[in-house]
Amino acid sequence: MFAADELAGKMRVLIIDQGRDISKRRCKMNMRSICMHCDPCDIMCGVGGAGTYSDGTLNLRPDIGGDLAEQTGDPDYAWELVDHVDKVFVKYGAPEQLYIPKGEDVELLKRRAASVGARFIEITQRHIGSDSAPEVIDNFEKDLKDRGIEFLLSTKVEDLIIENGSCKGVVLKDGSRIVSHFVIIAPGRVGATWMDEIVKKHKIEAKYAPIDVGVRVEVSAIVMDPITRINRDPKFHIQTKTYDDFVRTFCTNEHGYVVKEEYEGFIATNGHSMRNMESENTNFAFLVRVNLTEPMENTVRYGRSIAKLATTIGGGKPVLQRMGDLRRGRRSTAERLRKNNVINTLKDVTPGDISMALPHRIVTDIKEGLEVLNEIIPGVASDSTLLYAPEVKFYSMQVLVDRNMETSIKSLFAAGDGAGLSRDIVNAAATGVIAGRGILKKSAAQ
Ligand SMILES: Cc1cc2nc3c(=O)[nH]c(=O)nc-3n(C[C@H](O)[C@H](O)[C@H](O)COP(=O)(O)OP(=O)(O)OC[C@H]3O[C@@H](n4cnc5c(N)ncnc54)[C@H](O)[C@@H]3O)c2cc1C
Repeated sequence: MFAADELAGKMRVLIIDQGRDISKRRCKMNMRSICMHCDPCDIMCGVGGAGTYSDGTLNLRPDIGGDLAEQTGDPDYAWELVDHVDKVFVKYGAPEQLYIPKGEDVELLKRRAASVGARFIEITQRHIGSDSAPEVIDNFEKDLKDRGIEFLLSTKVEDLIIENGSCKGVVLKDGSRIVSHFVIIAPGRVGATWMDEIVKKHKIEAKYAPIDVGVRVEVSAIVMDPITRINRDPKFHIQTKTYDDFVRTFCTNEHGYVVKEEYEGFIATNGHSMRNMESENTNFAFLVRVNLTEPMENTVRYGRSIAKLATTIGGGKPVLQRMGDLRRGRRSTAERLRKNNVINTLKDVTPGDISMALPHRIVTDIKEGLEVLNEIIPGVASDSTLLYAPEVKFYSMQVLVDRNMETSIKSLFAAGDGAGLSRDIVNAAATGVIAGRGILKKSAAQ
């Protein structure tokens, strides 16, 4: 949509999405356990993509959720892109309020983190909220349509038309072909496996990027409040003791809800929060960076097999364990969860043992990382802390692109999470902007 925004009025643009229009995406955002009531594809697919029913937290930095400075080769332009994306969201109804980390408190947090060998990264954020995000995207869609952008929904792209090293359009699931001068491929996380197949089939230059595997942590909001008051979505980076692995906090949802994500063949967890409804808990992802080299570089396949194992152990539901039970090497039970101080906001779970679901190294990293975090945020690794597994972030199969987002195939541009070029809304949107502008440049030069 951000690419289309750049191209509107200058070129005929068709956005093809396998999902539905916002009004038809059935996501009951006012339910606490949204995923029990939703078509999984309606959460991840459709107009606005996964962003429509996300928490709508805009991380206003070019180096979180991607690396726009490296992509553009110009740090100032990278910040301009972030500013531009933010302005577009505000134009379509994102709240004016900004969450700016405050001076002295930030310094204190940085010092506290540094004293235990961790790093605190401050970020200015805007919070749209999952209850307002659909409206913002709806306004965006309507305006794009008014400016001539067309949408073809509930339509899966099956393949690309590539002739003589140049992309000429797409093939739809029913076999019909749509020809075009340019194609932007931006299938998001839900399309990571498809992207993998397309890249291999057409020999598009790409490399496997690391993935993030771990858990969704849920604690009483009161534990996190002193930190989230300073920064709504605080980012802590930790190197673990045993394996020297990189672990980080990600996507904190203060007074939010844990949700289930459904992928083809496995489930995962995520979180969201709303502007108009609060839980008593705060959740965040706690993720271990996994890089693979020889003989298996395919991080997507590795991540999927971990997620599948966790799904098997959980009987098709996320595995939920108390930190205290993990420490004692025993599974959590429904009875133990009932007595727990922190009550799980996601109900569709299997009380169990995450060390049966995740590799030993990842569990060790999570335990050690949480102990470090506990030094910065007392109580975060208490016995009653809840750990949901798996939480997997696929950013993999990073398509190699030039400064304009053009791939090794001529006239084929790539953007967003599915192409491994971003990991959040702002960066995904910015890569779309770059691709849109890249197409304009190329078209002018032709
Ligand atoms: C529950 C949840 C909460 C999140 N919270 C936040 C947050 O607070 N802040 C943040 O910055 N990020 C958040 N994210 C991540 C954010 O949503 C993504 O980074 C962002 O949406 C990526 O944008 P994208 O355009 O690359 O892909 P997506 O938004 O995933 O869109 C890809 C689209 O492509 C379509 N598609 C895929 N394959 C095909 C195909 N073959 N044919 C046709 N269509 C196809 C899909 O249907 C989908 O609509 C969250 C994600 C989830 C799931």
